[in-house]
Amino acid sequence: CGITGYIGFRDAYPIVINGLKRLEYRGYDSSGVMLYDGEEMRMSKTKGKVSDLELITNKEEERKLGKIGIGHTRWATHGVPNDVNSHPHFSQSGDLVIVHNGIIENYDTIKQELINRGYKFHSDTDTEVLINLIEEVKKNEKCKLGKAVQIALTNVIGAYAIAVFDKTKPNEIVVARLGSPIAIGVGKDNKEFFVASDASPFIEYTKEAIYLEDGELAIIKIGKEVRVRQIKNDKIV
Ligand code: GLU
Repeated sequence: CGITGYIGFRDAYPIVINGLKRLEYRGYDSSGVMLYDGEEMRMSKTKGKVSDLELITNKEEERKLGKIGIGHTRWATHGVPNDVNSHPHFSQSGDLVIVHNGIIENYDTIKQELINRGYKFHSDTDTEVLINLIEEVKKNEKCKLGKAVQIALTNVIGAYAIAVFDKTKPNEIVVARLGSPIAIGVGKDNKEFFVASDASPFIEYTKEAIYLEDGELAIIKIGKEVRVRQIKNDKIV
């Protein structure tokens, strides 16, 4: 299982897809990518290998457009390996999107609460529960994505490496880790950033990497220094 991501000025697709190939050694049963071209978030995902995913993206060149993208290889824990359960996952509104490695152990309780509040679920994954929890927090607290992710994660029991993108604020990606690795590649003058389970997907682009520690969250924003915070202790404003 692995995560890749890119935000910056280059075409994201080759970086994300080649990154997933480099992470293939981690093992997986499905894979997927989301590309954002400034207007639309396009999701392509499938059970099988990254080469199967490429068969889908190769059919429509527009699926590869965009300077922002996230990718995932899945090792199924909740829900069988199939196309729907593959990552990324959208939130109910369609504004937020997530890739996740790990397990949300208390997903069932949270899922029931969200269903009571009118959320509908399309997959059997714990991950779709997490992205909708983030959406619910963001709505209730009227806060930014980073804070919503932080609050949501304080309510979660389990292990994770996540990357979250919000198309209503398309200049940032929020990542966090507890128990699964995540590295951030920092481009020159903070003009671009890379996200991955290890540094191999971005090694030819930048030598500057930030490895998150367990319990940390990072807000990655174009043109800004990466902000790293403790999920449990730090205030995010
Ligand atoms: N628990 C999530 C799922 O089953 C993520 C699995 C993974 O680490 O790839 O979809």
